[in-house]
Amino acid sequence: MILSITCDDSQNTQHQEINVQCGRCTKYCPMSLNVQAMAVKGNMDHHECVLCGECVDNCNKKVLRFAWKSKK
Ligand code: SF4
Repeated sequence: MILSITCDDSQNTQHQEINVQCGRCTKYCPMSLNVQAMAVKGNMDHHECVLCGECVDNCNKKVLRFAWKSKK
């Protein structure tokens, strides 16, 4: 199991676009990742993500969260 960031309801891209449109996740990412785009695509895995949790902590809608997932 590995720790990752996940976006709730990631299968519903239209819903995700609305939820992350404030852009706080992208604004607060210290790695300058486009977290909004990652959330809308439903893929929060990025090799430069350091799992700092700034996007999770600053998500007003609480759609971003930490999660454990199986290794591929
Ligand atoms: S956990 Fe940190 S580095 Fe990873 S996407 Fe969120 S803000 Fe960026």
